[in-house]
Amino acid sequence: MTRPPVYVTRPILPPLEDVYSLLQEIWQTRILSNGGPILQRFEAALGQYLGVDHISMVGNASMGLVLALRHHGITGEVITPAFSFVATSHAIRWAGAEPVFADIDPVTLNLDPVEVEKRITGRTQAILAVHCYGTPCDTDGLQRVADRHGLRLIYDAAHAFGVRENGRSICTSGDLSVLSFHATKVFNTFEGGAIISPDRETKLAIDRLGNYGIVDETTVLETGLNTKMSELNAAVGLALLPQMDSAIATRARLANHYSDALGDVPGLRAVCPPGRTGHNFYHFPILVGDGYPISRDALYERLRQDGLFARRYFYPLISDLPMYRDLPSAAPSMLPVARRAANQVLCLPIFPDLDPVDQERIIGIVRQPC
Ligand SMILES: *Cc1c(COP(=O)(O)O)cnc(C)c1O
Repeated sequence: MTRPPVYVTRPILPPLEDVYSLLQEIWQTRILSNGGPILQRFEAALGQYLGVDHISMVGNASMGLVLALRHHGITGEVITPAFSFVATSHAIRWAGAEPVFADIDPVTLNLDPVEVEKRITGRTQAILAVHCYGTPCDTDGLQRVADRHGLRLIYDAAHAFGVRENGRSICTSGDLSVLSFHATKVFNTFEGGAIISPDRETKLAIDRLGNYGIVDETTVLETGLNTKMSELNAAVGLALLPQMDSAIATRARLANHYSDALGDVPGLRAVCPPGRTGHNFYHFPILVGDGYPISRDALYERLRQDGLFARRYFYPLISDLPMYRDLPSAAPSMLPVARRAANQVLCLPIFPDLDPVDQERIIGIVRQPC
């Protein structure tokens, strides 16, 4: 009997009744957007859940990143990893700035502060770092580089929902952090995202920039954008939040099981081995090295044959895409660690309702691919 396909992730949903009661409220108030009552409750509840004080909800993280860069007036060079989802660099361009790629750390696969410092020029204005797979960046190291050179430090925290370090939300690091609530992320509002600000003044400035720059009925202060989250998306998020502790705990159990079952396979290394507190187990990436019997791509195909859709996040490198590959910092010789990671990485399916039978099928093939 063939089983249904298993994808790398599967979104979680709130109980339909809980969304329905919020929808009834929307149908009564007729407030559909513009920071309505449900969005305000969602902001407060999410702030409490994450342990942060100043949240601006946005329609998606891509717009959130553009807003964050625009808020700080970044139009020069922005140092960023090539090993990320393409939206990270695209947001830099949409903000009117230019990405400059720096290499990553071979263990965390996050921006290496030493490599960042090598890429600084007179035009550098900011660092846009990514907490890849929810693994915290070297926030102290990056902050020291930013401080030394007077740069803004913005985090693409699309993978980092709920991630904590030393008991604090990772989103309190740097100048601003941007979360994604896309369907494929740890927490979702179908589409959505949030910007975490350090203070209320910044939050209000960001809210204004994301609402056309409107101050009041007759005053428009700046060339703003519309990045608002609707009441519908906020309702989904508000109803889903109570489920998040158990969703992340289930991810942790699944990640532990992968780790235990694959830890002794020659040529394989898990990128985020469990054991860290405060992780969210967004992905379970493995690096398929030379000691493994087949190539990464052969393993990817082998799993596909059985309807098991692992993904090569992130391959190809952003710096290899046609709109970026001519940048001086995109030269292949400049990014050896990122390149190796892109050629070796494979993210195994992990999501809260992954069937244990399917996880055993994945483990069986990865342990014995031929
Ligand atoms: C998903 C993702 C984004 C984009 O998020 P959207 O909400 O879909 O715009 C940005 N950066 C990274 C690293 C991502 O994985």
